Amino acid sequence: MNDAVTAPQDSTLLNLNTPMLAISHLRKVYESSGRTVEAIGDVSFSVRERELVCIVGPSGAGKTTLLRCIAGLLAPTSGEIQLSGNPVSGPSPGMAVVFQEYGRSLFPWMRVAENVELPLKEKGKPAAERRRLVAESLEAVGLRDARKAYPWQLSGGMQQRVAIARAIAYEPKVLLMDEPFASVDAQTRAELEDLVRAIWARLGVTIVFVTHDIDESVYLGDRVVVLSASPTTVMQDVHIDLGHDRDQLKTRADARFGELRSLIYTLIKGAKQVAR
Ligand code: ADP
Ligand code: MG
Repeated sequence: MNDAVTAPQDSTLLNLNTPMLAISHLRKVYESSGRTVEAIGDVSFSVRERELVCIVGPSGAGKTTLLRCIAGLLAPTSGEIQLSGNPVSGPSPGMAVVFQEYGRSLFPWMRVAENVELPLKEKGKPAAERRRLVAESLEAVGLRDARKAYPWQLSGGMQQRVAIARAIAYEPKVLLMDEPFASVDAQTRAELEDLVRAIWARLGVTIVFVTHDIDESVYLGDRVVVLSASPTTVMQDVHIDLGHDRDQLKTRADARFGELRSLIYTLIKGAKQVAR
């Protein structure tokens, strides 16, 4: 808890220095049938407006737990999350989440456009605006022609594009992504990574992207927050100075890319050994 900061309740009065997201001393302990798992020990970091921050850490490091706490889907044991200076105490219209398991996140009986439209109905958007948002977001992910298809008629990569379209149609301030490309093939994954950078640049949205893949974190991020194994803490917050324009071949072949991935790899390897 940071006693020195009093959060303004009215976002129009927001100080320019207020981060988009502030995670302070987050701790999450799972307790179920006598078993206690300290998933997150003590995690603090903040994300500025329009940043693209990757969170990387080994499997079981509490990445999903962290993202669900940020999204307001899971209550922290202690600590606090603030969105634009306001405490997060449940799901917020300011945030949208793309999960790893796209297969389960889309409704199979609804067409692509209906899947994208559903949260907008729940948000109370009028029909004309819903139509515009659905069309624009499907266009943004290159799926205009698939609007009438059912999810099960599409490849895994296309289904994940639908999930991304649904999230951006919601016009969140913050887009949270939990290992969204972990189960698609390498070629599709590279395309989807570039899609995320393109959407981010175009919409000016703030993105928090969780992955266990070190190369992916360096390729995508402006910053990479490196997590230790559970009970999780932030090991290092790495600035990724690879410039704005990333290219799957050139960026990954850049000597600086190699240095950054080695740095993060060494940190994570060290964390695993400590945990053993
Ligand atoms: P990651 O996404 O980094 O792989 P998770 O957040 O899924 O990590 O899990 C962190 C730790 O918390 C793991 O040890 C996992 O087994 C445990 N965990 C996750 N969800 C639950 C739950 N609902 N109940 C009990 N333990 C859980
Ligand atoms: Mg996970």
